[in-house]
Amino acid sequence: MLVARAMAECHMYMDLHPCERCGEPYFPWTVHEAAERDGQRISSYEGDCPACGTRRRFEFVVLDPNLPPPALGGPEPSTIIDPGEFYELGESAAEATKLPGGASPEQVGDAWDAAGDAAATTEEILKFLPPGAAAVPVEAFTSERGRAVRTADPSRFGRERLELTLAERRRVLVELTRLVEQYES
Ligand SMILES: [Zn+2]
Repeated sequence: MLVARAMAECHMYMDLHPCERCGEPYFPWTVHEAAERDGQRISSYEGDCPACGTRRRFEFVVLDPNLPPPALGGPEPSTIIDPGEFYELGESAAEATKLPGGASPEQVGDAWDAAGDAAATTEEILKFLPPGAAAVPVEAFTSERGRAVRTADPSRFGRERLELTLAERRRVLVELTRLVEQYES
């Protein structure tokens, strides 16, 4: 059973797992069920792969269904997404925070969403660092994709570099929050 800490983590997990049959990453689920089982919140998503029609289904235990996005969980690290996967997600989110000149309010809104994800994924990587450790331990990389991200450049997972990245991504988030507020007022 997949144990997610928050609803946003379920969605991120599904984004990371393309169709088993054809590799299509987009999964527009049409059935969502939430249930209580043995005192735990179960959340399931079901629908057809838009490319090959295969019926797909994900089922999660959600530890804190009320935790609002972009937070992906409490202080404990994820058990279903590894640091390498978070790194990749964070890089593409950071890329999506860059605004073209004369951006529309909608583009600013999308960039603001992406900035929240970029910061949150970096916070998630830092949760895998034991106190005092200088880098994320190699055992934390449990997926093939995550291990490949680490092998490509292990320095990505050093504490100092991660903390600098987080500070920068939080700065971008503050800047975009200001812009969003300007459009709203
Ligand atoms: Zn498919």
